[in-house]
Amino acid sequence: MTNQRRLADNVSRYGMEHAGVPRKGSALLQGIAICGCCGRRMTLHYSGSHSDYPVYCCRIDRDQRASALCQEVRALPVDSLVERIVLDALAPDQIAIALAAMAQLEGESRQLERQWMLRRERARYEAERARRQYDAVEPENRLVARSLERAWEDKLRAVEAIDQDYARWRSEEPLVIGTADRAELQALGENLPWIWHAASTSAADRKRILRFIVREVVLDQKRMRGQVWMKIVWQTGATSEHRLQRHVRSYRDYVDVDRLRRRIKDLNAAGKMDKEIATILNREGFVAARGCAFKNENVWLLRTRWGIPTVKINGAGANPMRWPDGSFSVQGAAVALGITPQTVFDYLARGLLAGRQLTKGQPWQIDLSGDQIKLRRAHVRHTKRSRKVAS
Ligand SMILES: [Zn+2]
Repeated sequence: MTNQRRLADNVSRYGMEHAGVPRKGSALLQGIAICGCCGRRMTLHYSGSHSDYPVYCCRIDRDQRASALCQEVRALPVDSLVERIVLDALAPDQIAIALAAMAQLEGESRQLERQWMLRRERARYEAERARRQYDAVEPENRLVARSLERAWEDKLRAVEAIDQDYARWRSEEPLVIGTADRAELQALGENLPWIWHAASTSAADRKRILRFIVREVVLDQKRMRGQVWMKIVWQTGATSEHRLQRHVRSYRDYVDVDRLRRRIKDLNAAGKMDKEIATILNREGFVAARGCAFKNENVWLLRTRWGIPTVKINGAGANPMRWPDGSFSVQGAAVALGITPQTVFDYLARGLLAGRQLTKGQPWQIDLSGDQIKLRRAHVRHTKRSRKVAS
């Protein structure tokens, strides 16, 4: 399928299916994940009761499942962070820069390739010359023949060694992008977020796109408690470091529980209610227990545990008669109107008094003008009198 057709196809299908559902083969960093502890290439395994959780795994012997474990990193959260970073990085102008840098890398790579070719030719030439010398020797001159034979074997071994070195170098060389791929990549850049998320884009396609841009990703979850440290080595040769908050089972495992406590305390002191605090914490990248987003219940629970009192506009003290803005508290209104606080609540509920709360649970602030007080008092007196008359 041509890129244009596939793009149209993807765009039309986009949204019809949910993308990002974990499934086998979707581990984005398969083959390019490097262990940050020991530098080995990490392999992919599946864990969980249904073997459906991909894990990047570093074992001392990469083929032996039974061998000692260096570290393992859960793939899905790492993948989604890499995905976000890459999609951000792939703005069209960034692609142009990346391609230019890649062209330079390719140039260097071609130069090295040529040097390797010369070395391999030279080794072959020398082996061939040794063979001819050996062939040319008279059969009766055994001593000379034997030493020429040994020389020939040495040259053959040298050819073999240099071929192996070359193969190793070749496999470690960064991916070289062909011209066709390059044009495709440029076109992709414009529409990458759509194509990336499209239902018709396979996991293999995503991996392929990723490899255009990222050479390898170094993972280390031992470096910092509660976090996965990550270094992306871009194809351009540039590197960038990132951190991922690991999902925590309880707040005891939380990497910066002190920072979290301080933040909640400060926000609470600033008059924020639990729900607002939760929103702010989520925005600031805090993660609640078990990797969830914060809700007001989480904040409430933490405040209770840490003894941070519910915020009130007057702090922890009793409500004053009047608030600084001139509005009355329930107690103040009760005194001013000569009624019980309970009646004030009743009037508020019936809309006979105008009051407001910053939010549910906050003290009432009741607006009472001098006229209203006179009017209400008269009404109260009237009601009391009529009750007396009636009784
Ligand atoms: Zn390792």
